Amino acid sequence: MSELFDFDLFVIGAGSGGVRAARMAASKGNRVAIAEASALGGTCVNLGCIPKKLFVYASQFPELFATSQGYGWNLGLSTTFDWNRLRDNKTAEIQRLNRIYQRLLDTSGATVLQGKAGIEAPQQVAVNGTTYSAKTILIATGGWPYIPEFPGSDLAITSNDMFYLEQLPKTAIIVGGGYIAVEFAGILNGLGVETHLIYRGSQLLKAFDSEVVSWVHQAMLDKGVTIHLETEVTRIDKHDNGLKVTLGNNQVITSDIALYATGRKANTTGLGLENTAIQLNNNGSIAVDSHFKTAEPSIYALGDVIDRVQLTPVAIREAMHLIEHLYGETSHTISYQNIPTAVFSQPELATVGLTEQQAEQQFSAIQVYQSDFKPLLNTLGNSADRIFIKLIVDKHSDRVVGCHMVGDHASEIIQGVAIAIKAGATKADFDATIGIHPSTAEELVTLV
Ligand code: NDP
Repeated sequence: MSELFDFDLFVIGAGSGGVRAARMAASKGNRVAIAEASALGGTCVNLGCIPKKLFVYASQFPELFATSQGYGWNLGLSTTFDWNRLRDNKTAEIQRLNRIYQRLLDTSGATVLQGKAGIEAPQQVAVNGTTYSAKTILIATGGWPYIPEFPGSDLAITSNDMFYLEQLPKTAIIVGGGYIAVEFAGILNGLGVETHLIYRGSQLLKAFDSEVVSWVHQAMLDKGVTIHLETEVTRIDKHDNGLKVTLGNNQVITSDIALYATGRKANTTGLGLENTAIQLNNNGSIAVDSHFKTAEPSIYALGDVIDRVQLTPVAIREAMHLIEHLYGETSHTISYQNIPTAVFSQPELATVGLTEQQAEQQFSAIQVYQSDFKPLLNTLGNSADRIFIKLIVDKHSDRVVGCHMVGDHASEIIQGVAIAIKAGATKADFDATIGIHPSTAEELVTLV
């Protein structure tokens, strides 16, 4: 601890990474401040993972209602959906989480400063007109949705707006082929909105195993999403109370909203980076070394603002790593290998490790095991949804190097598989494991 400074660590941004770093640093006896211009908890809590998943749950009920009939349930005639109730209940839950974040920070001993922070010098930060000195500054300001410029782009909205829509649209255009586009396509379609997904490439979710993506793609079509590939929106015009959206192939779609899910950019505007030696990468994210140090030796950065892997658990891990590095004993670098991830599409997709295409490039010989089957729930439920599971094995070592799944509970199942893969499990280890019957996951230990 240095009494020369107001704080040992000044964290800018109280999202997943910033809050974890602040709490850990404070628990190690450091004097910590954390500044946040908006609600505590950052993107994940306020405008991302949590409200998104609540919306996913909401959108799955119509299929569950349909399934219930095969199990003997008679549905009432007046089943309706109240968007305002969902939106407002979600907001109340987010506010509860905001209060929990406040309490966690308070009990850790960190000083929470509500306001936009600007860096005035390598060891000085100003918030609400007061300048604080800090031995170390950590930038954890996350990212912000990006909309490309084109005629009418100001009429487009982002995922931020989706959580506060005044009313549920009847028709929606969604642009993009990544996580957010595919997830919102499932949400809106499930809630009964006529949904068009427009992607400029030939395969949605292009970073994922292409066979797995084709399962998701087909299932989305079967559920009613209209997917337009290899085309772009060229202009958006106002039309009656909605929008007229023109595509590159001259097709015109009228829609109530145009949601752009075209990626997120590092949140560095107004941070005062010009008062430091910090360097940016080509995409505007902050450049850091393997211990998250920027080109300015007293300033570190982590999470979405460095754009390595834009996932909440990764930001948290980076924060834990940094605090151990700064105030603990370890100096190892963080591993970005075998990060499990899920797209909360409908059906859900989850994955860990290499895609088949990546494994083919990395190993001289691989073995692919796969299975698709009707889950037990759907035998009486009459849904056409199937489960798809794919295991990729390095033939030489017998190690499982990738596992991919499409279907109910994929994220829950793949989280467990990720532990096995991280621990170096072989196909023989999977085979030697006794299954849980009847379950979807037992398929993983009986693949031949
Ligand atoms: P992604 O980077 O995943 O996808 C962006 C999509 O927009 C891509 O398909 C991209 O196309 C397309 N795109 C980019 N620029 C343009 C353009 N000018 N015109 C048309 N299309 C364009 O970003 P998202 O916004 O979906 O999500 C941001 C990040 O947030 C994700 O990468 C993920 O890390 C994280 N996230 C994680 C979730 C989860 O864990 N479940 C959920 C939501 C977000 P192309 O592929 O051709 O470049």
